[in-house]
Amino acid sequence: MLSSAPRNHKSQIGSRESQNSLLLFFDVASTMILKPHEAVESAYELEELPQCIVELRGVCKRYGEHKALEDFSLEVGRGEFLTLLGPSGSGKTTILRLVAGFEQPQSGQILINGCDASPLPPYRRNVNTVFQHYALFPHLNVFRNVAFGLEQKNLPRQEIAKRVRSLLEMVELPGKEDRYPHQLSGGERQRVALARALVLEPAVLLLDEPLGALDQKLRQQMQVELKRLRERLGITFIFVTHDQQEALVMSDRIAVINHGRLEQVGPAEETYGAPRTPFVAEFMGVENFFPVHCLSHSDQGTRFETETGWTLWSRNSMELERGFAAVLGVRSEAMRLTLGRPRPSSEAVNVVPGEVVEAIFEGGSRRWTVRIASGERLVVRGAMAANALPLERTSPGAKVYLSWEPDRSLVYPVNGESPQSPPPTAAENLGPQSSAARG
Ligand code: ADP
Ligand code: MG
Repeated sequence: MLSSAPRNHKSQIGSRESQNSLLLFFDVASTMILKPHEAVESAYELEELPQCIVELRGVCKRYGEHKALEDFSLEVGRGEFLTLLGPSGSGKTTILRLVAGFEQPQSGQILINGCDASPLPPYRRNVNTVFQHYALFPHLNVFRNVAFGLEQKNLPRQEIAKRVRSLLEMVELPGKEDRYPHQLSGGERQRVALARALVLEPAVLLLDEPLGALDQKLRQQMQVELKRLRERLGITFIFVTHDQQEALVMSDRIAVINHGRLEQVGPAEETYGAPRTPFVAEFMGVENFFPVHCLSHSDQGTRFETETGWTLWSRNSMELERGFAAVLGVRSEAMRLTLGRPRPSSEAVNVVPGEVVEAIFEGGSRRWTVRIASGERLVVRGAMAANALPLERTSPGAKVYLSWEPDRSLVYPVNGESPQSPPPTAAENLGPQSSAARG
């Protein structure tokens, strides 16, 4: 790891005084103006560049008695799209503020480009922030909003005009230069905020729930555009959201945060497909959980018993000792719903009988809530084509069977190393919960 500080910081925009007098506008005013390649060349020989552009090492951040982050470590790779995902109050904004330099940790270290960032004020970190509520200058038109940082740098007017135009084109806002923020839609304001953050070409862009205020359609459109922009510019994005769907769509890697601790970090597919704790599983949309204990292992998998005496199987928990208590989770879309008892080809199959209490048409899919003998409710979801059962035969009151393959079972030992919080029970998981509803 490199220890030397970047040697040759070029001039910065604005003065300390101008920043203090522009508290509201600190995202722009606090941006260091090096382009990514300039920052690179000024600090290191190319081959020396650390792979990791931002690193938090054992960071603790308290507000008074309240611990917002505890022993938090995370590495962000150069050029990657990393998403911080967690419920409201889990510490996501705190992480961004620490990286941006608006807050200092009580202990631990933040490294940017391999160097300790603690002596660097925000405007020297080559990091810029886009906030959820945009923080545009209300008295400046679109052009001036985007140009602001460049004007502070005293760039030639022609150069400013060229860069602003090119950015506005990139975010698809040409022709709106003369409008004021109040004359723009939410999506347009969001694009101006992005253009304003990007015009200074930071090496790292921090985005704090930037799509939170947009309606669904615009949000999906902006998700794709942001992704495309990142690919085009090669800037590192640290993106915050509490919406698992958004995290999956956008990210190279997802870091799941719970109460100021990192629960899991990994590629989006891994976080979705192999959540390591019940918290991550639930946050990534797993809706059904059974308290179980381990009965035995065989070459067909691991056999469990539920509290009501059903046998369930998994294929990924051979290390679990017999008799150990665990929670077995299964995604609503991994379950099949049938009217007759399925005839499995092997012994190792999960079949649970129940009664439909709710059947909901969701457009491209259907969702059933099924009460099982223990009184708990499970949620099954199927594409219309895959679960081509006549709706009237699966309406409330219908007797049905739920089944799933052992390799779709997710098993979490109750007193094992991984679970950090008491695992949820099926009873606590009545019906679908969108992660968005929790943020
Ligand atoms: P998130 O962005 O994930 O919703 P935050 O990072 O904003 O969470 O906050 C983490 C925790 O720290 C919350 O419990 C919040 O109330 C607390 N917190 C954040 N900022 C402050 C502050 N300036 N003073 C006191 N408590 C704070
Ligand atoms: Mg926040």
